[in-house]
Amino acid sequence: MSTPPTQMSEARRYSQLRAHLSYLKLNDAFDALPRVLDQARSENLSMTAALERLLEIEVEATEARRLAARERFACLPEPWTLSDFDFSAQPGVDEKLIRDLATLRFLDDASNVLFVGPPGVGKTMLSVALGRAAVDAGHRVYFTTAAELAAKCHKAALEGRWKTCMRFFAGPRLLIIDELGYLPLPEDGASALFQVINQRYLKSSTILSTNVGIADWASAFGDATVAAAMLDRLLHRAAVVGIDGPSYRLRHHQGHADNLRQGVNARVS
Ligand code: ADP
Ligand code: MG
Repeated sequence: MSTPPTQMSEARRYSQLRAHLSYLKLNDAFDALPRVLDQARSENLSMTAALERLLEIEVEATEARRLAARERFACLPEPWTLSDFDFSAQPGVDEKLIRDLATLRFLDDASNVLFVGPPGVGKTMLSVALGRAAVDAGHRVYFTTAAELAAKCHKAALEGRWKTCMRFFAGPRLLIIDELGYLPLPEDGASALFQVINQRYLKSSTILSTNVGIADWASAFGDATVAAAMLDRLLHRAAVVGIDGPSYRLRHHQGHADNLRQGVNARVS
């Protein structure tokens, strides 16, 4: 027969409390319990204040664990944030628009973001920065390249896991597809990409970056119908950010590159 609570000794009560915390897997509160009880005594805390302090420790630890799990899942390739982006180096980029995107309002109506421009202008950097903001705000984010996505889908189809693969790409609140157009997609790649875009359409946001101008999508993806259908879904609700300034990667080499080009041109003509 269990002892009525009123007759329970303090020592027994303490050990029960520890057992409850452990049973509920509140491990950080479990570890902090002696410290919080000491503080409660020495600082004369009310019962409410002591309980709040104990549970706050557990909540903070849970938040940190979830953030770390979201970060791991997101596979962001760099630790970039928006404050790393030098807007003065890329005056063509509408800073107001980017800052508005960073509020993540676009996730609420499942809008998409398209970064279009040549290599080195900061498309990946801005995508990663928006992804990081979304991870920090508690959203599930996944970063991939178009080639990787196509390869994953292709492998899944061969192994009979197509549905699981589609479910995976439908899951994240924000999917970032980088480098569309850099490598030619394999035969079934364009159609896999279309299916991913299509199932996310009006449900959750996708950020896509590409070096292929929208007018050239049809020829770049081989299949004009698929390209048109994909653009239709993507652009229905989207912010299109065209970046056509100089390559940031090559900014220190620009003079050198210009000389090289002039040299080549001189030789050709
Ligand atoms: P893209 O994806 O357009 O090829 P990236 O985003 O990979 O370009 O940028 C290339 C490199 O230049 C990265 O190291 C990035 O951090 C840097 N970079 C590009 N644009 C900027 C910018 N406006 N401010 C600071 N760094 C930049
Ligand atoms: Mg890039």
